[in-house]
Amino acid sequence: MIDSKNGVIGLAIGDAMGVPLEFCIREKLQKNITTEMLGYGSHNVPKGTWSDDTSMTLGLIDAINKTGNIIPTDIADNFVKWAENAEFTATGVRFDIGRTCLRAIVNYEKGINPIECGLDDEFSNGNGSLMRILPLIYFCYAKKMNNADIYKVVRDVSSITHRHEISIMGCYIYVLFGIELLKETNLNEAYKKIRESDYSMFSKQCQEKYNRIINTDISLLNIDEISSSGYLVDTLEATLWGLLTTDDYNSAIIKVINLGNDTDTIGACVGGLAGIYYGLEDVNENWKSNLLKYDYIVELCEKFNEVLNKTNSKKIPEDNRDVFFIDIREREKREKFVNEILEFEGMSLINNNADSFELAKEAVIKSIFPISIDFKKLELDFLKNTTTAAAAITNKSIFITPEEALKKVESRLNEWKKYKEEVIISLTTRVYEHTVEYAKELVESYELDIFKEFFLKNETPLDCAIDIGYSCG
Ligand SMILES: [Mg+2]
Repeated sequence: MIDSKNGVIGLAIGDAMGVPLEFCIREKLQKNITTEMLGYGSHNVPKGTWSDDTSMTLGLIDAINKTGNIIPTDIADNFVKWAENAEFTATGVRFDIGRTCLRAIVNYEKGINPIECGLDDEFSNGNGSLMRILPLIYFCYAKKMNNADIYKVVRDVSSITHRHEISIMGCYIYVLFGIELLKETNLNEAYKKIRESDYSMFSKQCQEKYNRIINTDISLLNIDEISSSGYLVDTLEATLWGLLTTDDYNSAIIKVINLGNDTDTIGACVGGLAGIYYGLEDVNENWKSNLLKYDYIVELCEKFNEVLNKTNSKKIPEDNRDVFFIDIREREKREKFVNEILEFEGMSLINNNADSFELAKEAVIKSIFPISIDFKKLELDFLKNTTTAAAAITNKSIFITPEEALKKVESRLNEWKKYKEEVIISLTTRVYEHTVEYAKELVESYELDIFKEFFLKNETPLDCAIDIGYSCG
């Protein structure tokens, strides 16, 4: 009998363990290893609160429970319910959402086919679909699917928010690995199996991204070689590394949440697989008892188990595009939501990079969208109070936004120039090659001398950005 509770509760606990540490810097965490479930950390939420990873996972389960099948509109509807009405949350408040997910949900709101809502550019490969893909391990296993069908289902479910093949391949590896664990294959054997699997449906360039997982042994790498950013490939690497280098659920979670940065998602991804493999019996009792809405999650899982354990004869749609129907919602609702994105983008500089700000001596703020200079001043004041030393590896970091977005704010740069002495910032995991060039031009044209040295050294913002990262799922 399949018991999805192991993986789902395992995932939720890993998520809740990581939530208070999200965005923390590894060096700090390694000096004082966290072993307990904490509250009121990075997101200022109570102990045991889980985040978007678990919410979207539960949304997927609830959608499957409805029909026993994968119906993309059901899944996307649940993502909307979560994003707009905070359904499937631990406290009734949705306190986080990844940009790519948010944009995909807005696409769905506009009436786009759900499996075409996810962004499909290479820079939209945050871990936002990996973190919620776990229910497919159970679904595909219960349906005794072959790899070709597993691929199709994973592709479509990932594509609701993340449509690029790097995301799809990462989810596919995760699901294949999880299915092996459900079959009680031992960890190393399961890893061997996924390394031997066929990935020819993905391009060569895509497969190369997973070189360290597929063609070498990720478990042999040392901690310094494992990144814990929000980039999906990094998250999958950290997940497998954490699992393969520990011997029980609790140690695996402790090991990965103390890597810092995107701790909740890495905790969730590890927790899900570790829960499947080890079961929940030996999971730290305090962690279990502190997990919010434990009974609610178990209830959803029990229903899921029923659905899975039924010999389900319903055929999976050959092509989910066929079952899609356009569901256009009212314009007002949509606009409200789009405004929320703008607000989110503006605030994310502060929220997501708080740790980096602590370390930043000089910073430039470039906002994603034009906002009033008064608001900008508030941001500057905030930074002055929290900024004490230089950021990251190079002492300087750069916030690269898509070219289009930068253009939008170009008109504001003159106003910002007067602050250049005081502030220069910023970062993101999302580095757009072409905007590096564009940023160079900006540096030249606006005489932001402070950047010049940085660029002359030919250092790439990618190093800083990836090192610092943030939840870009
Ligand atoms: Mg999260």
